[in-house]
Amino acid sequence: MSDIKTIGVVGAGTMGNGIAQLAAQMGANVIMRDIKDDFVQRGLKAIDKFLAKGVERGKVTEDQKSTILKRIIGTTDMGELAKCDFVIEAVIEDLDLKKKVFSELDEVCRPEVVLATNTSSMSITLIAAATKRPDKVAGMHFFNPVPLMKLVEVIRGYSTSDETVKITSELAQKMGKETVEVKVDSPGFLVNRLMIPHMIEAVKLLEEGVATKQDIDKAIKLGLNYPMGPFELMDFTGIDICKFVADYFYQELNKELKWAAPVTLKNQIRSGNLGRKTGKGWYDYSK
Ligand code: NAD
Repeated sequence: MSDIKTIGVVGAGTMGNGIAQLAAQMGANVIMRDIKDDFVQRGLKAIDKFLAKGVERGKVTEDQKSTILKRIIGTTDMGELAKCDFVIEAVIEDLDLKKKVFSELDEVCRPEVVLATNTSSMSITLIAAATKRPDKVAGMHFFNPVPLMKLVEVIRGYSTSDETVKITSELAQKMGKETVEVKVDSPGFLVNRLMIPHMIEAVKLLEEGVATKQDIDKAIKLGLNYPMGPFELMDFTGIDICKFVADYFYQELNKELKWAAPVTLKNQIRSGNLGRKTGKGWYDYSK
């Protein structure tokens, strides 16, 4: 663990820049790679903005902010990741792309380096198979927003070694997170596997006219003490993302009908109302 001094992050988007920030806060040197310099700069700016808010709120000093930022190097060159002692991949959720990235990382990184993926739902085993070190590949699933959400799911692929699970869990803990171990490479791991049926069932209740979406959200918040109701959560996550994951479960989990996306969910997407990111989803955010 103390051997991990430089951490590579592949992808400087929402998750990648959050992970890079955490790694730098922990004291590691970070190399954050994206495909275009614009994307790298956008990721660096997002970190700067997050830390600037921390300074405003008195949680970080200006000095700490500049020390953290200095530890992060942005690059478009995959070769730079050769310097890393641990790499976390956070490119878009596309299996072929992830396989390509892992095969490139396998060429570039030293053979003992653990390669982790932040995939939300895809098979760790399939991603690991793109490398010659499947025992050193694990899932390391952070949640959005990365600096604030406390959990990391550490997922075993079919060939992941105990040592790799240990290194990955200890790193996540050093980054300030609580970890759970997902012992079997199963679609959606723990959190998404439980979250998606909750969303699907909420839409079905709405379709059956059992209650309004406002009351369904209220019931879950006040009855189960969840911070958000299922409709609010879908708007936050993106309704299209929820359907994408539900479709994936439907394919992977033997086409069980309980994973089939309800018609109203599909119609939300067809109408372009995807949630907060489009200004409208189950609720209107445009005003
Ligand atoms: P994003 O679209 O914000 O960022 C992805 C970044 O990857 C983009 O900047 C893109 O340019 C970059 N990229 C694409 N190909 C690349 C390559 N070959 N090398 C380097 N960078 C490349 O996506 P995101 O929301 O940060 O999601 C990233 C991963 O994290 C996905 O697997 C997603 O499922 C997972 N995830 C997302 C969330 C979430 O709420 N956003 C939560 C948990 C896990």
